[in-house]
Amino acid sequence: MVVAGGGPSGICAAVAAARAGARTLLIERYGFLGGIATAGWVDLLLGIAPARTGEMVVGGLFRELVDGMAALGCARPFDEGIRAGRIPFEPEAFKLVADALVLGSGADLLLHSTVGEAIVAGDRLRALVLEGKSGARAVEARVFVDATGDADVVARAGARWEMGRPADGRVQAMSMILQMGGLDVDRVPTRGEDAEAVKAATREALMAGLPAYRWHSPERSPDARQDSLAFNVTHLSGDPTDATDLSRAEVKGRKDAWEIARWMREAVPGMERSHLQLTAHMVGVRESRRMVGRETVTCEDLLTGRKRPDAIARCTFGLDVHCPMAHTGPEAAQVDGVACRQSCGKRDCHMLTRHLDEVPEHGGVADRSWYDIPWDALVSADLRNLLTCGRSVSADHQAMASLRVMGPAMATGQAAGAGAALAAESGDLTEVDVTELQRRLRDAGAAI
Ligand SMILES: Cc1cc2nc3c(=O)[nH]c(=O)nc-3n(C[C@H](O)[C@H](O)[C@H](O)COP(=O)(O)OP(=O)(O)OC[C@H]3O[C@@H](n4cnc5c(N)ncnc54)[C@H](O)[C@@H]3O)c2cc1C
Repeated sequence: MVVAGGGPSGICAAVAAARAGARTLLIERYGFLGGIATAGWVDLLLGIAPARTGEMVVGGLFRELVDGMAALGCARPFDEGIRAGRIPFEPEAFKLVADALVLGSGADLLLHSTVGEAIVAGDRLRALVLEGKSGARAVEARVFVDATGDADVVARAGARWEMGRPADGRVQAMSMILQMGGLDVDRVPTRGEDAEAVKAATREALMAGLPAYRWHSPERSPDARQDSLAFNVTHLSGDPTDATDLSRAEVKGRKDAWEIARWMREAVPGMERSHLQLTAHMVGVRESRRMVGRETVTCEDLLTGRKRPDAIARCTFGLDVHCPMAHTGPEAAQVDGVACRQSCGKRDCHMLTRHLDEVPEHGGVADRSWYDIPWDALVSADLRNLLTCGRSVSADHQAMASLRVMGPAMATGQAAGAGAALAAESGDLTEVDVTELQRRLRDAGAAI
């Protein structure tokens, strides 16, 4: 089988499939694995434990990856992370551990290869055409997993997908993560009173035109040697499946990062002698295409904490729709927050004046517990041998804003790989015995 895309979900899909005995090829366009966790430099694993119980909702390969990073001193240990509900880690460690997991599973890995065209016959995907240093090359398989995050394979294969919110088709804002080095880390405000003071200063700076959307108090990796922190403070609009929009976002993201870095040096305690160490290798994409599957996860599922008999993963993370208008400066100060909610301070927004029915009142999963993601949300409604996982599983715009985070993305990745292996002979994902799949996932430590 072929897994296209080596982000958090694709890594898990490839490892699960290979361990189940399927001949597996993992394809990634960059020279390293990790997707948004590494290329996007997002260094915090979320969606791992419900606030109410602290009960684990993702285990299996997610846990193995965390254990691998924790053994290097580069991630909060798993049990501690489950109690805290979040696991800070270092992206460089993610790359190293992901390489070892994938190659250790027996999967083949092909980097520097971008999935281009798809060859379809009837209701089956037959091959993908890869473009890269070695020129164009077709790879055939019985089953394909689209883990590109953007459902590139789904789109190229002509299977159905959706994108954006119904009101205006816009997707969540993208962000260029920036890392500041040379910090006096202990003096940088993280939580509490100091952070409140910086928040107030940020508000002032936003009113004066700072191209940020908030102050963000980052979490530290457990590595005491670290004198840098990554900041998620920029917001950029555009269509992440359009190279022109992406180019604009990359250029603006870098320019904004330099301005914000200058402001941080002046305004934030502990950052007086800091420098902009890096901007992420790519602008972080929160939302793009969502495959149309045989079943769809909805906002209602989240708000009611829906449990299902055909569950293959759980999600506890709430609705987190980063405002698609990507406001920064004075408008961001008016929004005063991140998520598109009815309580938003920008009362003249068309979402509040004309599409209130699309804007949630609150963003939490019912009872602060979890909702289930069913197997059929991973299976294409159009092609029998095509699966997706991670942020492009079949979900409505709002549910996607919850299951996109890395905990559930990795859980759906593991399920996709294990399910694909079950269909390796027939090449028909609609015939997978979901009870058997669930048994195998539980045996592999998954929390379902
Ligand atoms: C700014 C930002 C902040 C976030 N903050 C958090 C957070 O704090 N905690 C959290 O848990 N989650 C966070 N998320 C969400 C989370 O990181 C992503 O949703 C998650 O990584 C999705 O995993 P994925 O495997 O589905 O996709 P991705 O991580 O996007 O991985 C897709 C992979 O496919 C590759 N690829 C794409 N197209 C092709 C192609 N055509 N051919 C070959 N390879 C291809 C990419 O290079 C990439 O490696 C954040 C996201 C963003 C953008």
